[in-house]
Order: sequence, then structure tokens, then C-alpha cells
Amino acid sequence: MARPQGFGAKIAHREKSGKTCPVCDEQISYIKHYASVKNAGENVKYKQKIVGICGCNKKEYFG
Ligand SMILES: [Zn+2]
Repeated sequence: MARPQGFGAKIAHREKSGKTCPVCDEQISYIKHYASVKNAGENVKYKQKIVGICGCNKKEYFG
């Protein structure tokens, strides 16, 4: 028979569906972002980075 879910089970399920920012209370979405990395020379490389976007910093990435 099905048992009521414990507190721990609920937390685990929530983390699977996505995290919420404790500051702005928006759901955090993860995107791939290419950050330019400058080396000692004039070479500029792009490094792929996974960043979490929420209300706090989405302006930095989406204008
Ligand atoms: Zn936030």
C-alpha cells in the first residue's frame, strides 16, 4: 500500500524538478554561457560554463 511521503522524500523530489532562489524566490534555470577568457597574450578563448539564472542575475545574461 502507498504510504504518505516523508519530509525527506518531498525534498528529493523538489530538487529534481528545479531549485528556487532563496533571495528572489524565482526558479533557477540553468543555461550554457560562453564566457570570454583572456590569456596573457592577445588570444581570447571562450569557455563554456553552466550558469544558474534567476531574478537576481538574469539581466546580466539577457539584458
Ligand atoms: Zn535570485
